[in-house]
Amino acid sequence: RGRCSQFIIDNLLIIMMIVAVAIGVGMGMGLREHWAYYEKRKMHFLRFPGDLLMNMLKMMILPLVFSSIISALASLDIKKSGKMGIVAIIYYMSTTLIAVIIGIILVLSIRPGELGNSDLDRKGKEKTANPYDALMDLIRNCFPPNLIAACFEKQVTSATPTNFTISNATDDYVTRDVPKVGTGSGTNILGIIVFSIFLGIIIAKMGEKGKPLVDFFESFSLAIIKLVTLIIWYAPFGIMFLIAAKVIEMEDPAKTFTQLAYYMLTVLAGLAVHGFIVLPLIYFIVVRRNPYKFMYNMVKALTTALATASSSATLPITMNCLQENNHIDERVTKMMAPIGATINMDGTALYEAVASIFIAQYNNITLDVGQVIIISLTSTAAAIGAAGIPEAGLVTMTIVLTAVGLPVEDVTLILAIDWFLDRCRTSINVLGDSFGAGIVDRLVLGPRSNRNLDNGIMVSGI
Ligand code: ASP
Repeated sequence: RGRCSQFIIDNLLIIMMIVAVAIGVGMGMGLREHWAYYEKRKMHFLRFPGDLLMNMLKMMILPLVFSSIISALASLDIKKSGKMGIVAIIYYMSTTLIAVIIGIILVLSIRPGELGNSDLDRKGKEKTANPYDALMDLIRNCFPPNLIAACFEKQVTSATPTNFTISNATDDYVTRDVPKVGTGSGTNILGIIVFSIFLGIIIAKMGEKGKPLVDFFESFSLAIIKLVTLIIWYAPFGIMFLIAAKVIEMEDPAKTFTQLAYYMLTVLAGLAVHGFIVLPLIYFIVVRRNPYKFMYNMVKALTTALATASSSATLPITMNCLQENNHIDERVTKMMAPIGATINMDGTALYEAVASIFIAQYNNITLDVGQVIIISLTSTAAAIGAAGIPEAGLVTMTIVLTAVGLPVEDVTLILAIDWFLDRCRTSINVLGDSFGAGIVDRLVLGPRSNRNLDNGIMVSGI
């Protein structure tokens, strides 16, 4: 009995999170019969604890990104940061491409667009986005003209549709989560990351003169991490209500899920293969440790991703799990988690490839090999461009569709279930970021047993 209670104590938060999801689903199912999603006031009350959690998590994003990246870079020597950057880029690009390829293989073999989807209803019209403009916008967002404004302004882009509302949608909740602007979110996190990277490197190069800034950002980031620990104890409660509200809001599952069953299964199968087989395998080959133990240690972050549908909102919890449970070096976590949450999205890339080929199949359009290659490349780019916020992937998919000349308005076909797939792909996005941190930790800092304590501490005067 002693062992059992020890297990519960050790895993209390994880158990609480899983129980919260279960109660949330149960509560939502129970209330669904009696409440309608349009009973706004009731829904507002029900969502309230969940909204608070979302706000708390989002509140942490900016200070975390700034202080983590700067303090990590400032305390690593330049060689190590360079190596970390290269390993990270290779990992991000290759895993995202593998995810896309898995998606393409599955969608081409299952052919969900040709199976039992004839009664799908279309909901509205979209504007098109030009892939070249979208690419330029992505790069432009790396260099925000005004840093303060970048923290809270929407980055209005020229390429992406600015009126991404679903005109004929009768259910107003369908439009609520869909961001109005392409790559934009409330914050231009990409711009802030680029700024922090440059500042961090410069501070590291300043040597003794930069020391006060290193100390400042280090202690700031420590304080923020302590704050996050408090929020984590509130998380299960918030998650329960977020999920309950979503269950009440969903359209008749029997109808939408069967219409899109094959499409949904294709995306879920792809995500499962990538998340449970490919990523763990890569981790095992490189790190030689048990990948499933690593995954179990990330459960708090994965459940939060499932509940919030946002990699950015999950970031504080991802960092906590990486550091506290998986013992990833603090400097690696601080660099890899924020950058991963913003640009590394395996789940999103996989989904964009499947969804666009699904739309082609639905319209009886046969794609040639060249077009499939364009889809894989643009899906990767669109996933990098998608912000870590709910349904961002749905918006950047217009880039993929336009690149191969598929009807952009057809994203509305898959809209009804996107809230669900969004949550699943967000969890895989977060999982990919986490394994990435584990791999970089091993490759850049070496096996844990060989590490000496001051390994990598700033070399002054470089
Ligand atoms: N919601 C996803 C994320 O935050 C992005 C997407 O829509 O695919 O990771």
